[in-house]
Amino acid sequence: MTAPRLSRRAAALTPSSTIEVARAAKALAASGADLVDFGLGEPDFDTPAFVAEAGIAAIRAGRTRYTDVGGDPALRDAIVEKYRREQGAALARENVLVTAGAKQAVFNACQALFQEGDEVAIFAPYWVSFPEIVRLSGASPLIVPTDFASSFRPTAAELSRRAGPNTRGVIVNSPNNPTGAVIGEAELLRVLEWCEERGAFLIFDETYDRFLYDGRRHVSAARFRERHGDRVVVTGAASKTYAMTGWRLGWAVGPKELVAAMASYQSHSTSNASSISQEAARSALADVAQSDASVGEMLAQYASRREAMLGGLAAVPGVACAPPEGAFYVFAQVRALYAKKGVSGSTELCRRLLAEAHVAAVPGDAFGEDSCVRFSFATPLPRIAEGMRRLAAWAKE
Ligand code: PMP
Repeated sequence: MTAPRLSRRAAALTPSSTIEVARAAKALAASGADLVDFGLGEPDFDTPAFVAEAGIAAIRAGRTRYTDVGGDPALRDAIVEKYRREQGAALARENVLVTAGAKQAVFNACQALFQEGDEVAIFAPYWVSFPEIVRLSGASPLIVPTDFASSFRPTAAELSRRAGPNTRGVIVNSPNNPTGAVIGEAELLRVLEWCEERGAFLIFDETYDRFLYDGRRHVSAARFRERHGDRVVVTGAASKTYAMTGWRLGWAVGPKELVAAMASYQSHSTSNASSISQEAARSALADVAQSDASVGEMLAQYASRREAMLGGLAAVPGVACAPPEGAFYVFAQVRALYAKKGVSGSTELCRRLLAEAHVAAVPGDAFGEDSCVRFSFATPLPRIAEGMRRLAAWAKE
């Protein structure tokens, strides 16, 4: 048998190395090893009970048919209300598209906005899917660096230094996966002004918008809708906020014409997001008191896990890190370990750490920064303590 001829697009995709490490970790755990898994990119909590119940009730009530492609009007209204409440943004239902997760929101936005010859700026370290999603639209990613010394915060200055005449878009992810970096209001406005001057479009991914630490407040690009609304699409999800990764429910908020184009694209690919997930997400968004309590509990746990992980990492020779401002990852600089361990980079380091200490983490290489490794603290405290103990012992060997 001959292998099928793959399209250029499919052949050019790079398999995500986050998945590669996850697969190796899974195999190790299946073999009976006591694995400490810091590789996870999702909450370890269950979906809050009242949200899960709303999904069950939706099934029982027969809400199991197609909805509007762009989402049930009641859910879109609940998303409008979220942005009014949290960001003071005035939106209409027509500004909102419901998607199967934030990933589809970013994907559809890129498909609707970019094409061959365009360049889309992506700040590194970046979420692994951004460059691939940009390439799938026909455009080329333009990587804009940030640095460890300034906590990996994106800057408009670096953006304008790197950008060229074909730079039609920019993706900002705040809080950032993998670094936790949060963009402040002043810098975000500078990025928006740059977009205005250049006629570029901003995709603002706020998948982790409810998980910020040390009293920080999330500033969404939706806040500046009045001045810059025609240049921005905001992507978000129920996935992390309500521990609903498997439900596949996200959204995009942007100009009506763009939202309509994205809906049209979606109508010929996946159609509406799951009707059941939509009902569950609507109840999460509508019952502010209950969902704030659930989110608050999760945030408190993440905050103490973050402290524990930072404390643990501080005791490991050769590891340096800046406290993440948001999300649930520590992006630690481990370059000083490379010579000592005789490894060439983050992927080999993670492979060895997994094989020799049974600790899983994601190589920074996957995020465009080979000097670092990502440790997820969506893991219970005792496991963090155990993992940090193993890491310290391994690093000293
Ligand atoms: N954006 C970022 C920055 C993410 O980290 C993730 C999930 N890892 C997503 C989008 C996708 O989220 P969803 O599961 O809602 O598609």
